[in-house]
Amino acid sequence: MPIKTLQEMRILVVDDDAFILKTLTRILQKAGVTKLICSDVATEALKHLSSRLKPVDVLISDLNMPELDGIELIRYIGELPNKISLILISGEDKRILETAESIAKERQIDVLGSLQKPILAPELLEMLQSPELVKTVESRELGANDLANELRLALQNHEIEPFYQPQVCSDTLAVVGIEALARWRHPRQGLIPPNIFIPLAEQLNLINELTEIIYQQAFADLASLHQQGWQVTLSVNFSAQCLAWLDVPERVQKALKAHEILPKYVIIEVTESLLSRDLATSLDILTRFRLKGLGLSIDDFGTGFSTMEQLRRIPFNELKVDRSFVHGATQNHVSYAILESSLNLAKKLAIKTVAEGVEDQADFDLVKALGCHIIQGYMFAKPMPMDDLCGWLTMYNSKAE
Ligand SMILES: [Mg+2]
Repeated sequence: MPIKTLQEMRILVVDDDAFILKTLTRILQKAGVTKLICSDVATEALKHLSSRLKPVDVLISDLNMPELDGIELIRYIGELPNKISLILISGEDKRILETAESIAKERQIDVLGSLQKPILAPELLEMLQSPELVKTVESRELGANDLANELRLALQNHEIEPFYQPQVCSDTLAVVGIEALARWRHPRQGLIPPNIFIPLAEQLNLINELTEIIYQQAFADLASLHQQGWQVTLSVNFSAQCLAWLDVPERVQKALKAHEILPKYVIIEVTESLLSRDLATSLDILTRFRLKGLGLSIDDFGTGFSTMEQLRRIPFNELKVDRSFVHGATQNHVSYAILESSLNLAKKLAIKTVAEGVEDQADFDLVKALGCHIIQGYMFAKPMPMDDLCGWLTMYNSKAE
């Protein structure tokens, strides 16, 4: 097989046996595999399998694991939209392996073969040379390259623009703010969602450019809203990569001055899970945002790992609870517990709170009862272009009167 394909192939190995993981890692790395993920916990492996940004091409999985067995794993892959090829490993009877293999085939999964322990290198490498697999990997690389080139052009051609989602005060129901969310209006494919192109922009080092395009446009729009009498705040999302350049707060300040906007009307949102890379630099930048009078919000709260630590070290003055803990929290006691404790924590720290993902009256009643200040979600409005926002604000206000 061309070595390039093995280099491009993302392989996930799941086995609760550390020795097997080690053996497979050695064989695969020696053969030129660079995108290798190993996991001894099947439930953790599920996260990698559902990743759209870094799609797994091949799953090499043990059939018998404590918290999730191979058959359950096969069912899970069968339901995924992306195509994953499968190699099964087991110390079990050959017949059990064969049965598992046929279940996988039933579910339209491309089974490359099964390996019995002990694992032999030539046998495994031969399976990875399946023509169908090679074709899938090559065509996927091609597709990703196309999209990357198109994103570069999109930035030049002004195809990326902010949409705005209103934020409402939980007490008065008045609109108090908007969040700018990037949208890509692709000439042929229509609106491309940010979960596809933001990670791509980060990978291609285009995220700074993209963020600047969004906040420049959003500041112009905010100035126009203020002129029309809508004294709302504006939240802008900053990726961790944007926090690597020390002059970012000054650039933002300059743009604010150019649009004659007071800094207190702008809130910088930073995702908590992204803050760990270069903490000293991020801390420097984020603190200077606050010193310049801008707001600082910890976004997607509850989804990261070092939540408490981030809150202690970084001068946030707003906390946004992630939508996954808000919508349907009345029905889910785990979400409820996280939502409640996040809001309590913010209250103790005297930080303003925003709940995202409020979709219905039950969500609204709950977050309001738990003391959340600001509500954002489909119950009020979806993100919309500037042209629609003005109309929406007028309509919303006339209804409220
Ligand atoms: Mg956000």
